[in-house]
Amino acid sequence: MTCRSRNYFPGFVRMHELAITQSMLDLVLEQAEKAGAREVGKINLVIGEMTGVVDDCIKFYFDFLSKGTLAEGATISLKMVPTVAQCRDCLKSFELKEFDWTCPYCQGYDIKIIAGQELFVESMEVE
Ligand SMILES: [Zn+2]
Repeated sequence: MTCRSRNYFPGFVRMHELAITQSMLDLVLEQAEKAGAREVGKINLVIGEMTGVVDDCIKFYFDFLSKGTLAEGATISLKMVPTVAQCRDCLKSFELKEFDWTCPYCQGYDIKIIAGQELFVESMEVE
């Protein structure tokens, strides 16, 4: 199993899958314990494309880190969110492709990111 890095957006700090998976697991376990769960069935994650996080790596680390916890054997469902930007000049929004930081409508450079930086646990199922 390899965790090949992917970085479409140089300049943004790439997050580390191991650290992300650990904090995600901590959060899940905290919630599961609060709910008095016996086990965690499914975890729904939302990951923005811009974070550079590789879904296979998350799953790989999760299997490793969750051993012996309530979340062992849980299914991880990942929803990838494409990077979307909005042009400050013409106010149109568009999907941002790698290395292309210009507005396709007016060719302006003054754009801001409005989606693609997400990284959170959307919901989880416990028993
Ligand atoms: Zn524009």
